[in-house]
Amino acid sequence: MKIMNVVGTRPNFIKLAPLYRAFSSEPEMCSKIVHTGQHNSLSMSDVFFQQLALPQPDYNLCIKAGNATQQTADILVKFERVLAKERPDWVLVIGDVTSTLACALAAAQQGIRVVHVEAGLRSGDRQMPEERNRILTDALSELLFVTEPAGVQNLQREGIAAHKVHWVGNVLIDALIQYRSQAAELNTIEHLGLSGKSYVVCTLHRPFNVDTETSLRNVLELIETVSVLKTVIFPVHPRTQANLLKFGLEGQLMAMPNVRLLGPLSYLDFLNLMENAAAVITDSGGVQEETTYLQIPCLTVRPSTERPITLTLGTNQLIDDLSKQSIGQFIRESSDSKKAYKSSPVLWDGRSANRIAKIILAAHG
Ligand code: UDP
Repeated sequence: MKIMNVVGTRPNFIKLAPLYRAFSSEPEMCSKIVHTGQHNSLSMSDVFFQQLALPQPDYNLCIKAGNATQQTADILVKFERVLAKERPDWVLVIGDVTSTLACALAAAQQGIRVVHVEAGLRSGDRQMPEERNRILTDALSELLFVTEPAGVQNLQREGIAAHKVHWVGNVLIDALIQYRSQAAELNTIEHLGLSGKSYVVCTLHRPFNVDTETSLRNVLELIETVSVLKTVIFPVHPRTQANLLKFGLEGQLMAMPNVRLLGPLSYLDFLNLMENAAAVITDSGGVQEETTYLQIPCLTVRPSTERPITLTLGTNQLIDDLSKQSIGQFIRESSDSKKAYKSSPVLWDGRSANRIAKIILAAHG
């Protein structure tokens, strides 16, 4: 049975690691990797393959930089050629990025069954490219693997047949559980001259936060407010970096005395930094889940989340009004002695990828 696993971006690489390992331990499964090249730099791609001990991809589509439409077109043409050559039984796609939808569509058009890992998540906001990618990918998929109960309900509401949907837990947390101790052995915070709980980590890169000058100025104001209370460590995503330059705002950020700007970090360094932080400020999907598991207070700079379990069981709080008062309160509370949080979400237990492998094999027949 041949399965082609598609990856294109940083979070995809992390989620692939436990899946690839689980598939490799199944003798009946021949598992190949296709990298679209959506993220293709050393810091956003290569370092993840190295740290996660993933083999080099069997194919790299080397798609050109461009907007989502151009990249989708490029992927459709190039991935179709790979599919014609390989004729896999299944194509597995992960998450909600351009590569996810484009490869699901190319596979479905060839009559190849699609597996979607991290299916069913919905923010309710179709202005977000990720939300459109999620809905359309789910509609094209034969097997849909869900991380939290809300995902099952969303798919049911959209009329997806129940037998296709499997609540299996979270492969991102599989990776976290596996790599946590390795990350703890690194001296990441010592190298940065930091001590535990003395700083806040910030990651922001969603288009609605960084793509216009107004929204990016709001983000800088938020960071400045936080930095009055705590040192802010900000590993800047390439998209955010490009827009800081485009709008001439880099100097303003660099001039903030208690803010440290870094490039994108490797997975293990980021885990180390996150685990020792007083709090995290983010608009990342994965970071909301990781902080829930690690019980690190997380402030999500968005009006909604497609991961509601991080609000009900976890440490996550949404913030859509960036009032200084509410931010100050959050930072002060997060620095208090550790609040007791509820237990970790069900099935976030490090075994999700193995469940997925078994279910795919059973469906293959
Ligand atoms: N991450 C990383 N280095 C960084 C920032 C984040 O390795 O400098 C990891 C983080 O642990 C999480 C993933 O990247 O697992 C999240 O990726 P991103 O925010 O790009 O995507 P999203 O989760 O929003 O789809």
